[in-house]
Amino acid sequence: MTNSEKLFERGCRVLPGGVNSPVRAFRAVGGTPRFIVKGLGSHILDADGLEYIDYVGSWGPMILGHSHPDILKAVYDRMVCGLSFGAPTGLEVEMAEKMVSMLPGVEMVRMVNSGTEAVMSAVRLARGATGRDKIIKFEGCYHGHSDAMLVGAGSGALTQGEPDSKGVTKGAAQDTLMAQYNDLASVERLLEANDGAVAAVIVEPVAANMGVVPPEDGFLQGLRTLCDRHGALLIYDEVITGFRLAAGGAQEYFGVQADLVTYGKIIGGGMPVGAYAGSRALMEQVAPTGPVYQAGTLSGNPVAMAAGLAQLNIITDHPEIYTVMETSASYIANHLRASAEKHGIAMQVNQIGSLLCPYFTETPVNCYAAAKKSDTKRYAAYFNGMLKRGIYLAPSQFEAMFVSSVHTQNDLACTVQAAEETLSEMA
Ligand code: PMP
Repeated sequence: MTNSEKLFERGCRVLPGGVNSPVRAFRAVGGTPRFIVKGLGSHILDADGLEYIDYVGSWGPMILGHSHPDILKAVYDRMVCGLSFGAPTGLEVEMAEKMVSMLPGVEMVRMVNSGTEAVMSAVRLARGATGRDKIIKFEGCYHGHSDAMLVGAGSGALTQGEPDSKGVTKGAAQDTLMAQYNDLASVERLLEANDGAVAAVIVEPVAANMGVVPPEDGFLQGLRTLCDRHGALLIYDEVITGFRLAAGGAQEYFGVQADLVTYGKIIGGGMPVGAYAGSRALMEQVAPTGPVYQAGTLSGNPVAMAAGLAQLNIITDHPEIYTVMETSASYIANHLRASAEKHGIAMQVNQIGSLLCPYFTETPVNCYAAAKKSDTKRYAAYFNGMLKRGIYLAPSQFEAMFVSSVHTQNDLACTVQAAEETLSEMA
């Protein structure tokens, strides 16, 4: 028995599925999750001493790689002054100033502890500010596990939401309307059918929880126009794209601004952090200046702020990382396509910036229905082939591959070689 197997067996006795977040259990790909003991740069080491090139990167935050010395130093330096006070610290002000300076249209920020919390709070703010109840989301977009956002499969584009999880009441789900990503007409129909009742349209500007699906030309601009016409707010969930597509996130990358934006992951540098942000007029609706209540004992935690600030400072000092990551990601994407073609494997590789995803299907993937056509058994075979060759990918088809700024030429060469061997084996 390997050490990971032993830990998993013990974990399954005391943690549901042996894990604290479902995808980590490897259920979609089979086998035993690797228990990680250490990360350095683009590599991670498991409990059996096996080393992997990591393309999960904690699902996004490790954009500068693991254990970046400046970030670790910021954490140590801060930690010795105390871990939490429940009173404001200067670091929170510095973090908000930093974010405001980097993000288009953002005048104020509220820090929270996760992406889930950020979205839940932004949705509440949108409802409070507009006095409307309904929210339009897109099938296949993930916005954390708050009740109103756990609505997905099972409902047609024009019907009212049905809960996607047991424990979510019909009441919590009934105000969530479902549209189709990259399909403006589906949004327009919902806005017209619910005229004056829609508080916000929430979207992942690049859908990165159904694999990776970039917005088609005009999609985000079309959402902006439709929201303005119907008096609804546009919320970008930038928990994945924030500070990753560009220093200013998707708003900068696509040049289309939202009213409220949610962030997570990257602004914590690996510590648990989220944030929601927007114009002063909207953000001052939040308590204590406004009537929309939202609070948090550990929000703006000084150690998390120190880690995140160190990371954002490095990002702003090194704007070249975005070109580096894009070049690395497109190198992998091109080699995957070439290997798939060589071995006669039906594969679509979507890539934008440092995000990419191979789908095992013949048809291009531009929406949830198309993503669902991917042969997930083939993805599992691909995942396991890569894992045994030392490449750590997302253990599910419907996730992104995250390239960091510290994946080396050698990492990339090993990765495409492993993919070539795996796809040859699968052919
Ligand atoms: N929104 C998006 C776009 C996400 O990808 C995620 C998590 N992957 C969340 C929200 C929820 O964030 P968290 O897991 O930090 O609660």
